[in-house]
Amino acid sequence: MIASYIALSMNIHELPDFIELCHKLGIDEVVIDNLSYVLNESMFAWRTFADPFEREPRTFKRIINITLERARELGIRVFAYPLSCWELIECPERPTESIFINVNGDVSPCVFLNLLVRGNDIPRCFMGRCFKTRKVIFGNVSNEGIIGIWDSKDYRDFRSKFIRRKFQGLTVDYNIDLMPPSQCITCYRLYGI
Ligand code: SF4
Repeated sequence: MIASYIALSMNIHELPDFIELCHKLGIDEVVIDNLSYVLNESMFAWRTFADPFEREPRTFKRIINITLERARELGIRVFAYPLSCWELIECPERPTESIFINVNGDVSPCVFLNLLVRGNDIPRCFMGRCFKTRKVIFGNVSNEGIIGIWDSKDYRDFRSKFIRRKFQGLTVDYNIDLMPPSQCITCYRLYGI
């Protein structure tokens, strides 16, 4: 059994107690998640991670370390997402291998590109700025087969940007060919958060 804990500035201090609780409940593994999607400006204050060019938050890091140590003593596996940004080749949602289908049957690469909000635009905040980003929907399972949607040109083009990065890696020669899909540039998940 795996428990997930979204670490926020107002609850991260309870993490060591959470580990004790998990031990009592017989939970095997804990994932410490970040607030990886910031919907509005006031939520920036809830973050425990640092934006690029900000210093890693030492107090939060210390709490995570205490938590990891206690979990080790109790025999609970813990995976903690980092508290600072580093660009990944592909985000942990793994859009080259997985799909997201919402309650209406719309197919997207991940939940963050298809939040259930009215209209076609989703609010998103990144590195101190808030804006709207267009939903990314490649088809609907009520109208066509999932394989056909997965194989559509637009969906293949989207994935190919990540696949190219997987093959070439992110080196000092980072150039326009290695850019992720435009909607992903301002997504904290791409930076390991
Ligand atoms: S980087 Fe973000 S928006 Fe792009 S596929 Fe991953 S989770 Fe979705």
